[in-house]
Amino acid sequence: MNEPMNDPMNDPTRQMTNSRQVLSRLRTLMSEEAGGQTRLDAITDLMAQEMHVEVCSIYLFRDEETLELCATQGLNPEAVHQTRMRLGEGLVGRIAKHGQIINTDNAPGTRGFRYMPETGEEAYSSFLGVPIQRLGETLGVMVVQSKEVRTYSEEEVGVIEVVAMVIAEMTELGAFVGDGAALSARHQRPVLFNGTVAQEGAAAGQVWLHEPRVVVANPIAEDPEREMERLNTAVEELRVGVDRMLSTAAKGDKEQLQVLEAYRMFANSKGWMRRMEEDIGLGLSAEAAVEKEQSTARARMSQVTDPYLRERLHDLDDLSNRLLRILTGQGKETGAEMPESPVLVARNIGPAELLDYGRQLKGIVLEEGSVGSHAAIVARALALPLIVHADRITTEALNGDPILVDGDQGAVHLRPDDTVVSAFRDKMAMQAKAQERYASIRDLPAETLCGRRVALHMNAGLMADLPSLDSSGAEAVGLFRTELQFLTNSHMPKRSELSQVYARVMDAAKDKRVVFRTLDIGSDKVLPYMRAVQEPNPALGWRAVRVALDKPGVMRMQVQAIIRAAAGRPLTLMFPFVAQREEFTRSRAEVDKAIERERILGHPLPASLEVGAMLETPSLAFAPDTLYRDVDFLSIGGNDLKQFFFAADRENELVRRRYDTLNVSFLTFIETIVDRCAALETPLSFCGEDAGRPIEAACLAAIGMRTLSMRPASIGPVKSILRRTNLDDLRDVIHQAREDGLQSVRGPVMEHLRSKL
Ligand code: PEP
Ligand code: MG
Repeated sequence: MNEPMNDPMNDPTRQMTNSRQVLSRLRTLMSEEAGGQTRLDAITDLMAQEMHVEVCSIYLFRDEETLELCATQGLNPEAVHQTRMRLGEGLVGRIAKHGQIINTDNAPGTRGFRYMPETGEEAYSSFLGVPIQRLGETLGVMVVQSKEVRTYSEEEVGVIEVVAMVIAEMTELGAFVGDGAALSARHQRPVLFNGTVAQEGAAAGQVWLHEPRVVVANPIAEDPEREMERLNTAVEELRVGVDRMLSTAAKGDKEQLQVLEAYRMFANSKGWMRRMEEDIGLGLSAEAAVEKEQSTARARMSQVTDPYLRERLHDLDDLSNRLLRILTGQGKETGAEMPESPVLVARNIGPAELLDYGRQLKGIVLEEGSVGSHAAIVARALALPLIVHADRITTEALNGDPILVDGDQGAVHLRPDDTVVSAFRDKMAMQAKAQERYASIRDLPAETLCGRRVALHMNAGLMADLPSLDSSGAEAVGLFRTELQFLTNSHMPKRSELSQVYARVMDAAKDKRVVFRTLDIGSDKVLPYMRAVQEPNPALGWRAVRVALDKPGVMRMQVQAIIRAAAGRPLTLMFPFVAQREEFTRSRAEVDKAIERERILGHPLPASLEVGAMLETPSLAFAPDTLYRDVDFLSIGGNDLKQFFFAADRENELVRRRYDTLNVSFLTFIETIVDRCAALETPLSFCGEDAGRPIEAACLAAIGMRTLSMRPASIGPVKSILRRTNLDDLRDVIHQAREDGLQSVRGPVMEHLRSKL
């Protein structure tokens, strides 16, 4: 019997060997000393030879919209750096736009084909083009063409894909830097990101990546078996790690469990493993194979609109990063030195991690995040400019890149050019000048031109805030948000721990008053170690004093801790989110009980006690007079009050800026509260973010508010404007605008202040 003839074209190992050979030659080529253009030319030569095609070309992005032919074997050499196409134009432009391969035996007959006479490509019928991508970002397109009418085999597509991936990796490492504009390495161009401001301020510094990108320095491997083994060992380690996380995860935290389950599913996914093994078979190293799959998932992520699917692709992305770290040994500690003025860049960050960095940072830019996130609360407490929703910044930024954060506009300039730098420098200089001005009035009272005194207090939430009491000239801490100690902990803090923190806060404040607000959790502030309750409308849900009264254990513990910390000193307490009188009286009763308990135990009692409520729901404005007499003081939480007044979620980008604080309805509402408090002699303050905005603060003072509590950095600007304002005149302007039927008083107020200041 005749042995069947071995058809080399059908031998599955043949193509593998070929692709490995191609990659091996590519590696040799890349290791030679050469300029960028020479390298690209050599790659196109090599690929044309190995693939037995007449044409091999490389197109790279020249700018965000234009691709340029950067190297070719087979097309007219004169066309190099001359032929350009816009994103979406022609077959190459389409590949770049959609990140998808085109493989056709009849290029001129394919939809979108554009004839480019200068290249002489009309003679070629078959066409295979693949995107050159790194981590889902398209850097260019690689094309092979031949006269023969044929479609390229799966293996051939695989080879080109792998080579494209290596080119992308090399681009990252700067292998093509040098000759020609379009050959510049990625990550060299200036990029502007327009994000959302979560904390105002300006910062200039250098990028510090919270999770540095893993750099795959060896995309090509000689020994596939060894790479398979490396991959298998790393995946095993990954699986064990995920199982460990699952076994220790908080059982009540559905979201975390869902993410971890997704991790486990991906870590055990046969399809994922198979694709990576195939890539290794083609000649990639284990880490390059992981990155190739990650890149495909990222490209898909940008196309998918379903939020659930997007989340899962994100999970796969996270998991790939973990696997890459295991494979390369590059953890968070990459050995890189933190730059002098670090601006933290991350996809997202937890509050505890942010606190660890502390004030050494100059600013923070997050790809995700939200204005009301815990990280944002910490950033605010640390007075660090914070921009969220800076889409794709973690893909663009490299450690050490110059970066400017404009927390007024929400703009982030990465690798800014000289004009931007100098404009920004001017802006910072103006701000520094203003700071000097504020410093010069630090010890002067906020006394208006009409002789009224407005007390300026500061909001705080961390020990680290306390030095600002002196430097800002604040007269007191008008709001100490106590939830940060709970949010940044992985377990419920103990009474003794809390007591120590509160005592240190009072020590640091010396004889200045500190208004401790009891725990305000629920809604956006979810404790990681407490069972999360699924609520359709968390902002209107089981939060703050409602939780405290239904489950009084934590409130009792906290109140005891604060009383113990006071030990012989005056104590001021305030309950958040009181919506009706009974909530206040029951909470107050808890405080009285706690004092009694301390007395029985023989512990020193506070020298004096004031207990107040936050007015954050419109209902409290209309509560019976008895409430106004029960409380020792009221403090308007304008952030919440405004969201309920206008029914506009304070965290929803679509609506949160929709209604002006200086809207006549809102201002009139505040004025009625001021008048009621004056008539009933209830001390009143305002501690929402608006208290720290100079124009808003002046208007609040004009309608009778005499205590404003704000971020420390706002005290100077607010004092400065108040000292130059006549509140009677300003009140007349506000009332006139109301009589004139205007929607907001902002226009006339600004005009008035401009003419006077
Ligand atoms: C407010 O609602 O205005 C307030 C000061 O409280 P928080 O921002 O912590 O909800
Ligand atoms: Mg509030």
